[in-house]
Amino acid sequence: MKIKTFFYGLLTITFLFISCSKDEVLDVAEPEAVDLQEEASSKALKQIGSGVMMQAFYWDVPAGGTWWNVVKGKVGSWSNAGIDAIWLPPVSKGHGGATTMGYDPFDFYDFGEYNQMGTTETRFGSRSELTSLITAAHNNSLSVIADIVINHNSGGDSEANIFTNSNTYTDYNPQSGLFERTQYDFHPNDYHNNDSGVFGGFADICHHKSYVQDWLWKRSNSVAKYYKNTMKFDGWRFDYVKGFEPWVVKDWKNAVGGFTVGEYWDGNAGTLDSWSQQAEANVFDFACFYRMVDAFEGNDLNKLSGDMMWKRNGMRAVTFVSNHDTERENTKILNGKMLAYAYILTHEGYPTIFYRDYEDWLDKNKMNNLIWIHNNLAGGNTTNLWTDNDEYIARRNGGGGKNGLVVYINNSNSWQERWIQTNWSNNKIKDYTGHSGWEPTTQGDKWVKIQAPPKGYSVWSLK
Ligand code: ZN
Ligand code: ZN
Ligand code: ZN
Repeated sequence: MKIKTFFYGLLTITFLFISCSKDEVLDVAEPEAVDLQEEASSKALKQIGSGVMMQAFYWDVPAGGTWWNVVKGKVGSWSNAGIDAIWLPPVSKGHGGATTMGYDPFDFYDFGEYNQMGTTETRFGSRSELTSLITAAHNNSLSVIADIVINHNSGGDSEANIFTNSNTYTDYNPQSGLFERTQYDFHPNDYHNNDSGVFGGFADICHHKSYVQDWLWKRSNSVAKYYKNTMKFDGWRFDYVKGFEPWVVKDWKNAVGGFTVGEYWDGNAGTLDSWSQQAEANVFDFACFYRMVDAFEGNDLNKLSGDMMWKRNGMRAVTFVSNHDTERENTKILNGKMLAYAYILTHEGYPTIFYRDYEDWLDKNKMNNLIWIHNNLAGGNTTNLWTDNDEYIARRNGGGGKNGLVVYINNSNSWQERWIQTNWSNNKIKDYTGHSGWEPTTQGDKWVKIQAPPKGYSVWSLK
């Protein structure tokens, strides 16, 4: 979810002034995308991390209760293209009723079946349309990731609050009858005054209260267990995890299992790594995102040498080029988007593709080609072969049944070519993107000359 713009403006400025001193790409062994999928799935779902995640929404998707059906119509082709999981927006009734994107949760158990907040269906559809979508995704071997918003609530009734000596909107009586809340469940309360963060003016849930823990993940019909066992969600994307402590995510995950990723909006890779270790969860690689903004929009590929979460722990990094929030920011990747996708889909980490990039804005054939390259060639650890202001070449060394690759990103306005060292002696290689028609044979010492098109990329591997 998006916090106030002024706050992120400050954060962004801060990130831009953090200089990245880490010049080498790490040569750590990368077990192939294993830690990302920690649940032993009994269904024939693809292993999360073996493919690519689809963020199956954007900000203000068409209202009117049709979105679940739109997504349902695409899961088959997405699965064929190499997607292994879809991330849905928050599925329960928010304060904004039929208009909200769901980041203002009111009734965690109203998936579009109770008439409250002025509507029965959510912006995205009815409960039966949602369960039909989840079933269709599973039938296409896709996992379904729920967007979990548990930092804050919105839409409670006003009550006299003994902790603030004023009236607060902290009296929650959802029609589902489940997880009623009062001033004792929000900050400040009889336990303490606050946790690690509040979001705007929303009522800030206190996860320290045993009643709250019971309803969020402990009891048999807790939000976590209901979403997993009744709604059949397979994994979790935690919204705004800066707003509470990492143990909340860890306890939730220990209660129900499943792929788990946190939205810790911070461009400092060390901070992301630290949160990931404490939460024992994956984390979106905002460090990679901001380095790519500098590299592809700032036209300086040297910035790709900066610190990123995937370089610290590729098994815990979920990489992305854009999302529902970043697209509404000034700091984003615009012109260099295909190059950025070529970067995340050839490097370590679990890549996410943004719905609009795939369905509306970019060349779908080129995206599918990069997804195929990710799923079939991009194995092993990473060795940087060349970096300057407008060229970047890296080698995936192979592993996990994949041959590895050499990716050549060219941000200049003309064709470029370079001699580089592969892992292969006397082997014919080719560009799997089809951008170059060369099919050179590597020398006995594994050196070979490759090329990349202007404002483009090539990806080389054994023919
Ligand atoms: Zn967000
Ligand atoms: Zn608290
Ligand atoms: Zn909080």
